[in-house]
Amino acid sequence: MTYQNYSLKQLQAIDAAHHLHPFTDHKELRGIGSRMITRADGPFIYDSEGKEILDGMAGLWCVNIGYGRSELADAAHAQMKELPYYNNFFKCSTPTPTLLAKKIAELAPKNINQVFFGSSGSEANDTAVRLVRHYWALEGKPQKNRIISRQMAYHGSTIAGTSLGGMEGMHGQLGGAVPNIVHVMMPYAYELGLPGESDHDFGLRAAKAVEDAILEAGAENVAAFIGEPIQGAGGVKIPPASYWPEIQRICRKYDVLLMLDEVITGYGRTGEWFAAQSMGIEADTITTAKALTSGYQPLSALLVGDRIASTLVEKGGEFYHGYTYSGHPVACAVALKNLEIIEREGMVERVKNDTGPYFAEKLQARIAPHGLVGEVRTFGFLAAIEIVKDKKTRERFMEPGSAAVTIRDHAIANGMMLRATGDTMIMSPPLIWTRDTIDMACDRLLMALDLAE
Ligand code: PLP
Repeated sequence: MTYQNYSLKQLQAIDAAHHLHPFTDHKELRGIGSRMITRADGPFIYDSEGKEILDGMAGLWCVNIGYGRSELADAAHAQMKELPYYNNFFKCSTPTPTLLAKKIAELAPKNINQVFFGSSGSEANDTAVRLVRHYWALEGKPQKNRIISRQMAYHGSTIAGTSLGGMEGMHGQLGGAVPNIVHVMMPYAYELGLPGESDHDFGLRAAKAVEDAILEAGAENVAAFIGEPIQGAGGVKIPPASYWPEIQRICRKYDVLLMLDEVITGYGRTGEWFAAQSMGIEADTITTAKALTSGYQPLSALLVGDRIASTLVEKGGEFYHGYTYSGHPVACAVALKNLEIIEREGMVERVKNDTGPYFAEKLQARIAPHGLVGEVRTFGFLAAIEIVKDKKTRERFMEPGSAAVTIRDHAIANGMMLRATGDTMIMSPPLIWTRDTIDMACDRLLMALDLAE
């Protein structure tokens, strides 16, 4: 029996009875009932009642090539028939992860030539933590194992991902974090900049917090610094241009590895294949997932720089780590086709040279002047819209998040999906958006802002 045999009410009742959702208050959900998304095509998703919604979030920051790409289904079908599964443990390999690793290495920054696969961004970050600590142990410095992260960072929901992340609510439910992870301030000038402080100076001050943490621990005890090039789930926090070069300088000065989490920014979202290239960062590890398959299959890839990889090879010894689905052949076949489509259709260049600048221009011209909007930030196809009570004083609403949640709900009712986190609205559209789609998104968003005013 397919879902079409059920009414919406029946599906909602079954959902409430049996399905625990991620990041959801289940008491609240029971009162409302889930919106059932049943199909999608191009930039649109459709619910069970046939309502068309423009997907301003690319699913969950992942569907970069848009929905309904049958080439990906064909690639999965062909691979499932030929070899649906085999693992890459114990000196076996299979062709699709092998070729995908080569392709990723070609697209990645020059110092990256090795790839370790998993099924999710969280898993990839777990791998990254274990790998950098293993690296320093192989180098004869097992005590060099502390990792510096940032407040409001998001690195996943596993125990290690949550420990790396800087979300207080998540830590509150952790019951014991992975040891030796510390958090420093985030580069969020809108809220943390001092009166009269330039963006440039703020960027240097935020980077200095990392240096201070290294000095406090002693560089001989610090394995790595980890950061999202642009903090995504924490509110699309785009650091000043001075931030990342200074972080790079500090990491080099103290011989601390630089770990980038590009689970959101990887595969085109910033107008380059990786934000590392947009921002000129040379990282030792880059965590990627989501847009690697445009969300059509679960797959993550930890990109490993030459420094770590050469130590692994030269020193030898088994790295006791891996997942049943590391390098899943079907997921990798889909990823290969997805990257081929992104390349063939010139999506990355388009975001860089055409639709990305248009997205920025239109949001600044049409959304930023609205009375409820304190600031609009964009980078490539990422945007944040700060919702404030008072534009001048930047006063927030009394209940944090309430205004943004109201706007989000109006937006969905108006056929536009975006996300609210605290007082910040977030957008992360598929890379296939055209100028017309951007205009449509601004129309729908403006309508939602007017309704909330
Ligand atoms: N890292 C970042 C920057 C993310 O945004 C996310 C998910 O949104 C993750 C890691 C975790 O990825 P996953 O949900 O695939 O485990």
